[in-house]
Amino acid sequence: MIEIFCDFDGTLTDKDTLVVLLDRYASANWYAIEEKALSGDVDERESLREELALITAPDDDLMETLEQEIHPADGLDQLIALIREKEWPMQVLSGGLIRFSGELWRNWGYGEFPFFANDHRRDSQERIQVIPSPTPRLRERCNHCKRWHLEAARRRGSQVVYIGDGLTDFCPAEAADRRYAKGNLLKYLQEQELEAIPYENLQQVATHLRRNPP
Ligand SMILES: [Mg+2]
Repeated sequence: MIEIFCDFDGTLTDKDTLVVLLDRYASANWYAIEEKALSGDVDERESLREELALITAPDDDLMETLEQEIHPADGLDQLIALIREKEWPMQVLSGGLIRFSGELWRNWGYGEFPFFANDHRRDSQERIQVIPSPTPRLRERCNHCKRWHLEAARRRGSQVVYIGDGLTDFCPAEAADRRYAKGNLLKYLQEQELEAIPYENLQQVATHLRRNPP
C-alpha cells in the first residue's frame, strides 16, 4: 500500500500560517528566535513556544486573518484528485496549530484526510501557550513528532511518500521511501545526500506520482 504524508504550511498552502500570524500580531521581533531555530541553537519545541507567546490577539482575529491570507497551494486540487482516485490514505502533518490550520483544511473541503498538529491555550496574560500534539515523540526536539506517523506506516508495510518544504520536515523526510521537496527541506536532503525529487507546485508532484508510483 502507498501512504501519503504532507506538511501543511507552505506545502499545501501558499503561505505559512505561523509566519502570517507572527508578522501581523507578534509584539516583538520573532525572527530573531526563528534564526536561532534555523541555526540549531534552540530546538523547535523551544522556538515555537517563545514565538507564539508573543501573540495576545484573540483567536477570532487570528482565524479571520488566516481565512483572508492563506490559500491552497498551486496544484492542490490535482494532487487531491489523484489521491482520491487511487484511494491512497493521506495524512496532513503540521507543526502549526490545529484550531487554525485544521479548520482551514476542513473549510477547503478536505476534511476526509486526517490532520495532525499542535493545540494551544492562553495564559493569564492572553499569550498563546503551545500544547504539543499528543503524538508520541521519537526525539525530544519537536512539539509534533511528524516522523512517528511515518514510522507507524512503515511498520504497516506501506510505501511512504513525504511532501514538504521546511525545518520540521527534515526528520520525517529521512524516514520516507519517496520524498518530494522544496525550500529548506530540499537543501537539507541534498546536503545529506538523500534522494529527493524537487518540485515547484503540487501539479508536478501529482503528475510524477501518477506516472511513477513508488
Ligand atoms: Mg512547511
